[in-house]
Amino acid sequence: MQNTANTALTLFCPRKSCKCYQSTENKITKDGVYITKSDFEPRQMFYCNGGKHRFSETGYSDLFGKHGSFKEYEQTAKLNSYGLGTDAIADVLQKDRRTIEQRQKTIGQKGQQFHLFLCFTIGLTIIFLQMDELWSYLKNKSQQLWVFIALESTTKFWIGFELGSRTTYTANRLVKGIKKLGKWGKDNILKVATDKLAAYKNALENIMSEIPYAYLQLEISHYSPNTL
Ligand SMILES: [Zn+2]
Repeated sequence: MQNTANTALTLFCPRKSCKCYQSTENKITKDGVYITKSDFEPRQMFYCNGGKHRFSETGYSDLFGKHGSFKEYEQTAKLNSYGLGTDAIADVLQKDRRTIEQRQKTIGQKGQQFHLFLCFTIGLTIIFLQMDELWSYLKNKSQQLWVFIALESTTKFWIGFELGSRTTYTANRLVKGIKKLGKWGKDNILKVATDKLAAYKNALENIMSEIPYAYLQLEISHYSPNTL
């Protein structure tokens, strides 16, 4: 968690039991560095002036209390985004498959938290919604799994996804998630484009009934993850 950006981040106390927890009035100062066995990058220590205690930079991170270094999580995330599967990553990093699975899960959760935080903070105005589904599989190709995705079509901003069967049930969950994130006004009509799968039409009728929208079914070829 090296801060190489030019913007100065406002530091806050991450300790839940501290009276200054997350307060922006509090003063946080740097207080030395330390090195751990699992990670040779020095980690920053801080001092919480209001609560009069020290804490480590990992206190800000979900990696706190977890095994593995920042570097190992970073490697796993990178190999993952290059499209390597769990077994291949385990082989490259010479780790147990379960270790990699655990890391992938942590990375996924953290990514999702960050995404939701971002969406709520900036306030999404979705003008043109595009939904599509792509299929994947669990362990072997007989266990098909569908990934339903939602994008803001103009900007290709990733709004959300749902995993499940290729049914209205999964589409309902996707649309529910979108509804929570977007800002909906009466002034602009939401435009929605999907492929011909009836699940989307059903889900829009079920979930978006009080939001004015225009719906367009397209003959779109399915995405593969690499084209997103
Ligand atoms: Zn504190």
